[in-house]
Amino acid sequence: MAILPGMTDSRLFSDEAARTALAVRLVACGITPTAQRLDIAEVVLSGHQHVAADQVLERVNRGGGAVSKATVYNTLGLFAERGLLRELVIDASRVFYDSNTTPHCHFYNVDDGTLTDMALPPDVLGCLPATPAGTYAEALEVVIRIRNRLPSAADEAISENFRL
Ligand SMILES: [Zn+2]
Repeated sequence: MAILPGMTDSRLFSDEAARTALAVRLVACGITPTAQRLDIAEVVLSGHQHVAADQVLERVNRGGGAVSKATVYNTLGLFAERGLLRELVIDASRVFYDSNTTPHCHFYNVDDGTLTDMALPPDVLGCLPATPAGTYAEALEVVIRIRNRLPSAADEAISENFRL
């Protein structure tokens, strides 16, 4: 449907309002909201998610855009530095960006490469050893590496019985 003068398209309006809200959020963190930074912000800040930089690069350019890999990596680093994202270094080759910046821990599924939030019981903090003299705990980061279970022999026997 063509948008004629005087007509409004509620979807266009809500997209524009969401983009404006993102720009305000970036400015509040001292970040100049360039078009490319807003494109990246739309991908990473539009809902709770854990994404790797390569996924962000692919999503930002999905519509034919030409945001460079360096711009994506630098912008994600800037967003993390300014507290918009949390950087999660899973291992030397895997860094994820988490749009949930509140304190929480993660399960990392080695088999499919996904991260899942994990809440720790509040009393866990009381069980931790004291920090070395002259220091304090800034953050608690726990990643539990998990793998998918292989079907057990019992499960295989059950599925064997149902095989036609
Ligand atoms: Zn998370």
